[in-house]
Amino acid sequence: MVQHRFIMISFPAQGHINPSIQLAKRLIHTTGAHVTFLTTVFAHRHIDYGSTTLSGLTVAPYSDGYDDGTKPEDDKQHVSNELKLRSSQAIMDLVDSGANEGHPYTCIVYTLLLTWVAEVAAELHLPSVMAWIQPATVFDIYYYYFNGYKELIENNIRADNDDSSFAVELPGLPLLLKSRDLPSFLRASNPYSSFLPFFEDQFEKLGKLSMPIILVNTFNALEPEALKAIDKYKLMGVGPLVPSAFLDGKDSSDKTFGCDLFQKAKGSTYMEWLNTKPERSVVYVSFGSISVLSKIQMEELGKGLLDSGRPFLWVIRENQKNVEGKEEKEEELSCRAELEELGMIVPWCSQLEVLSNPSLGCFVTHCGWNSSLESLISGVPVVTLPQWTDQCTNAKLIEETWKTGVRVAPNEGGVVVGEELKKCIDLVMGNEELRRNAEKWKELAREAVSEGGSSDNNLKAFLEEIEDGALMLG
Ligand code: UDP
Repeated sequence: MVQHRFIMISFPAQGHINPSIQLAKRLIHTTGAHVTFLTTVFAHRHIDYGSTTLSGLTVAPYSDGYDDGTKPEDDKQHVSNELKLRSSQAIMDLVDSGANEGHPYTCIVYTLLLTWVAEVAAELHLPSVMAWIQPATVFDIYYYYFNGYKELIENNIRADNDDSSFAVELPGLPLLLKSRDLPSFLRASNPYSSFLPFFEDQFEKLGKLSMPIILVNTFNALEPEALKAIDKYKLMGVGPLVPSAFLDGKDSSDKTFGCDLFQKAKGSTYMEWLNTKPERSVVYVSFGSISVLSKIQMEELGKGLLDSGRPFLWVIRENQKNVEGKEEKEEELSCRAELEELGMIVPWCSQLEVLSNPSLGCFVTHCGWNSSLESLISGVPVVTLPQWTDQCTNAKLIEETWKTGVRVAPNEGGVVVGEELKKCIDLVMGNEELRRNAEKWKELAREAVSEGGSSDNNLKAFLEEIEDGALMLG
């Protein structure tokens, strides 16, 4: 078997870096490969590499020109052009040095939004593969949107969110998708329309390949139909890509090896606090590393948590930057003092540690794909409060396919009122079936990543494909 040497390059955002690092580690453990993780200087400074270094993994930071992070006034086009230019150059330099060292790179793995990497790889005569860090279902929806179903989907989007008569059914996907279930970038009201061209470009490039492999952060039992829905692509479930300590337990030191782009949970006593709480009593509330909720929404969440009367751990990031990089002026919650009598508010936490704590009763989540998978592998049922991008589809899957949670219903103004949140928390905390389903997925996820499990086998099959030369851009 060839001794593989990979370049793994990830878009510099927390939700992309965490699964990429896990995929790098999976490649090293499963195949004895060497992986160079290519990332920006800014992201590199915020990655927690843990106390141990992993043999086989090298980190190569490159400057994208924004080593201290971007500022709201920075020209977005310039930021994006620089990322493209400088990451391409960094790949070329690495490939050169690998060849000079007599240990050449054999494949490049890249995450979504880095649409140019496949072309750079082709110029270097290297195979490349995309790591899709959202569910396979979302990949399929985008594929259909860009390949013949745009009109159907757009007609659905124009319809009322809750009107089932406009729901869309797409080939091979056992789902009736209402407007609110689609990735938000496809919706007309989407304020971030600048993201859609990235996806379009990505699918156009993939379309030039014959039967490209896509490594998907999912597993066969979780999305059996979605992984097979499109016969032009070979979607391979290689997940869930979460640290080993929380999954198969093979590497108990593998807890902290991830990215913490915004906050550190330094010195906080939340774990000790959780340990004082009865089993399955605590509500954990977090909306990931990017979403910033409106002041009105935060106040309503506060009301709901107070009304529910249960202990809670709520992550409210400090100096929150919204998607456009603008810092939101922090306004104190009016009921903060009352809230802190009942629960604990922290600027950040080690989410997987929290989710694995026996005191956890439910997770109120924005349904980022990492958080969604982390809830499944921890066996914790959820209240879903999706915000944007794939989260809307993830919430649909959680509620209707995996049946591990319930989705809140916003009011006409788009706000989830306190009463609604309380109702959903009560429903989830008191529902044994949701808990049993979550436990079932926890077991199935472990099976998938174990030796001979579907994700393990898929990763090995992927390596054979590289050796057969199947991954070159035409
Ligand atoms: N996370 C964390 N501590 C927190 C909040 C989030 O460690 O207080 C981690 C979480 O475990 C997940 C990632 O940040 O791995 C967030 O990714 P996700 O895809 O859920 O959401 P995004 O941040 O991309 O919206």
